[in-house]
Amino acid sequence: MKGVGVVPKDQRLLLIDHPEPMITGPTEVKVRTLQVGICGTDREICTFAYGQPPAGDDYLLLGHECVGEVVEVGTGVKSLKKGDLVVPSVRRPCGDPKCGPCREGRQDFCETWNFTERGINQRHGYMAGYFVEEVAYLTTVPPELRDVAVMAEPLTVAEKGLAQAWQVQHRVPGWEHHNRDGKGRGHGRTAVVLGAGPIGLLGAMKLLIEGFRVFVYSRSPKPNFKAEIADAIGATYISSVKMGPDDFGQLVGNIDLVYEAVGEAHVTFDLMRVLGINGVYILTGIPAVQGPIPVYADSLMRNIVLKNQAIVGTVNASPQAFIDAIRDLGEFKKRWPKELAALITGRHSIDAHRELLTGKAQGIKNVIEFA
Ligand SMILES: [Zn+2]
Ligand SMILES: [Zn+2]
Repeated sequence: MKGVGVVPKDQRLLLIDHPEPMITGPTEVKVRTLQVGICGTDREICTFAYGQPPAGDDYLLLGHECVGEVVEVGTGVKSLKKGDLVVPSVRRPCGDPKCGPCREGRQDFCETWNFTERGINQRHGYMAGYFVEEVAYLTTVPPELRDVAVMAEPLTVAEKGLAQAWQVQHRVPGWEHHNRDGKGRGHGRTAVVLGAGPIGLLGAMKLLIEGFRVFVYSRSPKPNFKAEIADAIGATYISSVKMGPDDFGQLVGNIDLVYEAVGEAHVTFDLMRVLGINGVYILTGIPAVQGPIPVYADSLMRNIVLKNQAIVGTVNASPQAFIDAIRDLGEFKKRWPKELAALITGRHSIDAHRELLTGKAQGIKNVIEFA
């Protein structure tokens, strides 16, 4: 079967004839790939910054954002059957018996850093016709989400990020709304999403359904397509080019939560200066490593202490985050069917892989359709 892969030792991106995988154990599931999303991680692997093939192979199949249809299940699989839709997760546990998180199925907190990742690190990804996976790493998708479930994996970033925020903010009495009125746990709180890419806009949707007042703070001046989506779902889009962090902070009032989805350190630390009292700042972006940059270190440190601020990094994701992402995609689809669908700005055949992975980044979320 045809797959999209990289050969890091020759720095090549190519269509690869990869053997169709077969079920070899009772708890495995064979899945026909339907759609694979492309993101910055895939594009970075194509610059050969990272991306490691499995032991014994000189190539790595790409793709970690995926929805597929079950075609065959192992003899021990009871929870899935042929025809079911599934989304696979990405990270796989390390082998160290002493790694507590991995032994409890929380490899997102792996302590040895010897985890592997499908499509990224020592395991083939999903950018091919079929894949085989352990049932434990698959989350069931209801049929009505077939066209949007490819966004589940990027949404897990927000799911885990917000789950972390709730845990951290338990330190602040009354921070979480009691929600007896159904207005959401975030009711009365203000959240800022930094960045308006797919991770940012999905995060904005998540924060809105939790009841937060939401601002999306991103570079491009209005009018633009991403700003239109942000405003249409009930967030307020502000361009960071038109309004610097200080004026933005004035406009918004106390910023209770920032969800960073931009992956650029200078804008991230610039906005950190206006995080509010008892605020939490969730970092999800992974910038390319460059030289040192100036930051307002004294005011940041004063604020972090005097305003009880918490700065939290989060990498996706837990099995629960995948379950939550699928459930919330259903909620998004009910509330904002047009806007949710509009996040997928391009559906392409496998022949477009080179342009998508190495050409100019365009649109919001691009996917390759396999079936
Ligand atoms: Zn991704
Ligand atoms: Zn581990």
